[in-house]
Amino acid sequence: MSSEQAISNDDKAVTGKSTEALKLRLLNATLRHAREQSEFYHERIPEGFVERITSIGDLEALPILTKEEIEAAGSRIICRDSPPEIFKTSRGTTGQPLLVPISRKEIDAYNDTLRELGFWKRNYPPNTLFLDIDDDVHGERLTGALLPFPHLCVTIYGRDSLEGAARHLFREHTQIGNGAYVTDLMGDLVKFTTYLVSEERDPRASHVRNLYFAGRGVSDKWRSILTEVWGGADQSEVYGLSEVFGGASRCQRCGRYHLSPYVIPEVLDPFNRSRLEDGIGVLVLTTLIPFVRSRPMIRYWTGDIVNAVRTSCPGDRFHRLGIEIKGRLRDAVRLGPLAPNRLALFPYDVLAAVDEIPDIRRAVHSIDRLAIAEGIAGFEYVGFPIYAASIKEVTPDRIGLMVSFELRYPPRLFPQRTKELQTVIASRLISCCHEIRELVETGRLELSVELHGPRIKSAYPSDLADQEPKPRFS
Ligand SMILES: [Zn+2]
Repeated sequence: MSSEQAISNDDKAVTGKSTEALKLRLLNATLRHAREQSEFYHERIPEGFVERITSIGDLEALPILTKEEIEAAGSRIICRDSPPEIFKTSRGTTGQPLLVPISRKEIDAYNDTLRELGFWKRNYPPNTLFLDIDDDVHGERLTGALLPFPHLCVTIYGRDSLEGAARHLFREHTQIGNGAYVTDLMGDLVKFTTYLVSEERDPRASHVRNLYFAGRGVSDKWRSILTEVWGGADQSEVYGLSEVFGGASRCQRCGRYHLSPYVIPEVLDPFNRSRLEDGIGVLVLTTLIPFVRSRPMIRYWTGDIVNAVRTSCPGDRFHRLGIEIKGRLRDAVRLGPLAPNRLALFPYDVLAAVDEIPDIRRAVHSIDRLAIAEGIAGFEYVGFPIYAASIKEVTPDRIGLMVSFELRYPPRLFPQRTKELQTVIASRLISCCHEIRELVETGRLELSVELHGPRIKSAYPSDLADQEPKPRFS
């Protein structure tokens, strides 16, 4: 059976042993293809390895693949039989954006499979129009070649373009079809929503039935704002990296993300890189044939920390894994002498802790800066909070963790408010950051919160302004 047939049969019966057998078959085909067609993988995958693997766990014998290695390999990693037809770019939030080669075979495999599954017919009525909202910073763009229906892409960079997107939404869309269509909004939905709210436009008057947004997830606060503003349009949240085909979708049942069947996920200990069954670790992904052929990603180190849970949720019959996204590994705090191999203060937990506190300064991307300059309210609150953390040893069995946040004003102007916030933020951090709570409760960690005024130069160098907001650690 070809790997393409295996995928479509998979939809009919995906349970237990057959799932494992299918994954193994796809992994086998992927590794064989990579070794035969890519110079890089020919050197990396030992001779006879593909024939020897009997379980997914055998993958562990292969080295981890980093972004730096991919960059260094250049065209040596590309499979000869699948030359790139188009390129996407990754978002570049981990440094330089990475080009993502996509071959004709991959585009066809994707569209053929969805057609065979009746995906579009089942999910979207005729006359569906997709409105793809994108900003001018990030390279990710849903490529038209991958979408078999009308597709409008609006790049938002200021009032005119935001208004242009709104016009499509309220006027032009209503002239297409019979109102039975769906519009998906992708990408910078949070910013677009902020614009609509600031202009007192009501998205519920539009024909939007589905909101689709991709990236590293939104906070609970934004999820509830989107629900309220868009009047209960279905929300599909996808965690994904542009360089990996097949991310994870947030499950409506359990609230965790489930990985797509197009990848094999592993969760590894951030320090010794051993495989974890569950718990906090770095997500490592292996892409599978037939959706990735040009540049296979075998054991790709995403750099993202997840909390993994083995699950029997019916939302994931394939991997039986639920994950929570915690943020980038490099942004987490190492607890140091007290617990050398433990991490804490994950960026998404910090975000959850302070997301309702408008006093804290947020990172500002160029579109936000422009929108603020144009007097569109709210754009100063959409970014990631600016904070820093440091650890110090208090006694051999007790450490101090100091977290400092930037306020939107100098604390001396609002001393009472600042004092109140210090208490509120400390208690929010303890309730949102599980690792910290545990150490505070057992008396091993002293948490202190420091608030200071805007420090534009030191806290937020302009060369970082358009990157993923980065907390700073000392
Ligand atoms: Zn679930």
